[in-house]
Amino acid sequence: MEHRCCNGNVVRRLGRWVGILAMIACVAPAAAGETGESARRAKLRFDPQFILAQVARRMNVALRPEIPVPTIFVESRTPLRQFQDAIAPQWHFRPHVFTNAYVTARNEIYLIDDAAYYARPGRTIDGSLAHEFAHYLQVMYLRSDLADPTLETEAVAVQRAFQQDHVHPRHAAARR
Ligand SMILES: [Zn+2]
Repeated sequence: MEHRCCNGNVVRRLGRWVGILAMIACVAPAAAGETGESARRAKLRFDPQFILAQVARRMNVALRPEIPVPTIFVESRTPLRQFQDAIAPQWHFRPHVFTNAYVTARNEIYLIDDAAYYARPGRTIDGSLAHEFAHYLQVMYLRSDLADPTLETEAVAVQRAFQQDHVHPRHAAARR
């Protein structure tokens, strides 16, 4: 069996066992790096348009095409500085870490996509996006002021409902 190593050397002539060991040595780190990296990223199971439509339905909001949908930025592909610049005027301070947020002035959603963050029970990236979409509808459609604390309560309820209906539908069915 001929096998070209990472640096292009042919290891065939070194003998079977040396060849196999060399193959493991060059393949294993790359494979572990790839799966490790992708395993650390939480990915949406649902299309953002679907999530937005479900959130709008629950909040009794009729979506209008003339109102722009927010741009979504995930942590792994967004410089921290961009998030800080976006959120600082709204929060009146510059956070040191990325977090889930809806930035009203820019109509942007920032979303953590670190799988470790969503390892806690009841947390999913789809649910978090539903939460931020709730804030988007509150601001852009219902003209609410995000300083109102009841808006957070509503967003949390929308997030829970979305997860029960779509992310964990079997749990919801068992409860009915
Ligand atoms: Zn919130």
